[in-house]
Amino acid sequence: MSNPLLDTSSLPRFADITPDHVLPALEQLIAAQRSKLDELLDSTPDPDFDSLVAPLEDMEHELSRVWSPVSHLQGVLGSREWRDAYNAALPILTEYGTEISQNARLQKAYARVDNGLPADVSESRRSAVAHALRDFRLAGVDLPDADKARFKEIMQSLAATQADFDHNIQDASDAWSLHIDDASELDGLPAQALARAEADAAKQERGGWLLTLDYPTYHAVMTHAENRGLRESLYHAWVTRASDESATTQWDNSANIEAILALRHEAAALVGFDNYAGYSLATKMAETSDEVVGFLRELASHSREAAKKELHELRDFAGMAIEPWDMSFYMEKLKQEKFSISNEELRQYFPAATVVGGLFNLASKLYGVTLERDESVITWHDDARYYAVQNSDGEAIGGFYSDLFARSGKRTGAWVDDCINRKNLNGRATLPVGYLVCNFSPPDENGRSLLTHDDVVTVFHEFGHMLHHLLTRIDYPSIAGINGVPWDAVELPSQFMENFAWSFDVLERCSQHADTGEPLPRALFDKLENSRHTGAALAMMRQIELGLFDIRLHTEYEPGVELAALEILHEVREEASLIRHPEYNRLPHSFSHIFAGGYAAGYYSYKWAEVLAADAYAAFQEAGIFDSETAGRFRREILEVGGSRDFMQAYIEFRGRKPDIDALLRQSGILSS
Ligand SMILES: [Zn+2]
Repeated sequence: MSNPLLDTSSLPRFADITPDHVLPALEQLIAAQRSKLDELLDSTPDPDFDSLVAPLEDMEHELSRVWSPVSHLQGVLGSREWRDAYNAALPILTEYGTEISQNARLQKAYARVDNGLPADVSESRRSAVAHALRDFRLAGVDLPDADKARFKEIMQSLAATQADFDHNIQDASDAWSLHIDDASELDGLPAQALARAEADAAKQERGGWLLTLDYPTYHAVMTHAENRGLRESLYHAWVTRASDESATTQWDNSANIEAILALRHEAAALVGFDNYAGYSLATKMAETSDEVVGFLRELASHSREAAKKELHELRDFAGMAIEPWDMSFYMEKLKQEKFSISNEELRQYFPAATVVGGLFNLASKLYGVTLERDESVITWHDDARYYAVQNSDGEAIGGFYSDLFARSGKRTGAWVDDCINRKNLNGRATLPVGYLVCNFSPPDENGRSLLTHDDVVTVFHEFGHMLHHLLTRIDYPSIAGINGVPWDAVELPSQFMENFAWSFDVLERCSQHADTGEPLPRALFDKLENSRHTGAALAMMRQIELGLFDIRLHTEYEPGVELAALEILHEVREEASLIRHPEYNRLPHSFSHIFAGGYAAGYYSYKWAEVLAADAYAAFQEAGIFDSETAGRFRREILEVGGSRDFMQAYIEFRGRKPDIDALLRQSGILSS
């Protein structure tokens, strides 16, 4: 087999795969799958699960294995060649996906399987079929041919436009920089950020410092730079990225926003929904927009007064009105003064390697799994690592790659994606493999990357997603691991894990001072814990603002009404934001989650799942956070079941009752504990 992308006998051959392989691999595989599908439908007039669903699941599994490295590499390498290859292949993949879910013959075959399922069929088999039937309906399988064709066209335009939206943000960010000659302008910046800025300037054969819009730099300036003008400059650049307000409008996402909203609305209308929010919620725990808006407003009603108090305190402390570019800066100062704590002091205790090691030990303690680096596995970059994962009895259960540090071209943010999904179909089995990607400050000249406590929380969060992917016991890939889990529950395992990054017992084992080698002292942890609620209500209101904006936009959007996004944003800010945002603020233009990612009419999911996560963690606190019985129950009822059962039912099995909002309010310091 000459095309390495098509070699799915083992892990992806990252050393051999090039962008040139993408199109030929995809075309060849899809052609083969098309004829296989016809053959299958012809040869199984009386289909059952094993003769129809299992082979179909297998085909989808194969396709996602071939596509996964492509999607991954364009994100982590971000070269022009990779992006072009990705952009060229995306329409083919999207078209094929819609073709399958619009295939009426296949749908009828699934319906026959469904009718013929024995009464004692397993929950996971029943769910795999039910999910497939639901997805046929959501893809317009019953529509007249012309509408079907239009739906398909829309899916393709959407995929391309969403990819372009993301690429604009990356390009606009990469193109921006600010050169500084005078060191005094950078007062307050931590050594690590200064060193990076100096190195970035040196790369351009310049002296001085070069500030860029990579997230660690932006965050360092907003949190630490004494120079208010400098903070405002970076804030301006950040919130106008890829917009009509940015210095270069070459990457303006305005038209993409309009196009994405119009396409989503049209697609939803074609398959019988009033708006895209209805379409999006058809696969989620929450049932209607009203329910989501009500949920967010209930959280707001509990949090607003606390947030106002926080803002007043901040104003008094700063002695002036707080602008958006002052928020993190004074919050950090206030924390230092009130709790004599500083992120930079804490950072010394969190070398990336120590944190990751401690995190792995925690997974062992909770779930009995062991994680071991395998240096023989070939990756895409020197920063990337591969770990093999085993159960306590030595059974191999999967593996994952990590790629932790920021670099030019790499997509910003932190995420987990699947490389291989678990399957066990008619005797053909694979174990799950995933990617865990972050954008932490790259190692310094001594090879040390020191994480902030926020970074520690981030890596715990992503590792929670990874455990969800790896610990699944479901045999059918469409509902294994994270697949098929309602989107508003997907953040439960991840936000649940964040809680452990606030436990002394855990952090002690995740820390080692960069110079002295000491673990985090109790006294410093106490300060950290005391400072946990600083700004928590303001942060809560911020997430509510984003969630309301998203759900209202996708509910109220009307075709042909331009600038709806900015208008709705304005209204939402009147309702939920406590500080005034400048006119030039173009939040939507870089709001990848909802315009390029999977969070459209779903951003509320973070808060929704956080309620579940806080309430689940409270069960651990009640029993002792390392209690093996509780951890075992969490693993069995939540982490292992994928999308095989009704999620609320699974949660009740774990908790013995429905989730309660109070645990989250207590965790945020809004309710006293
Ligand atoms: Zn997440």
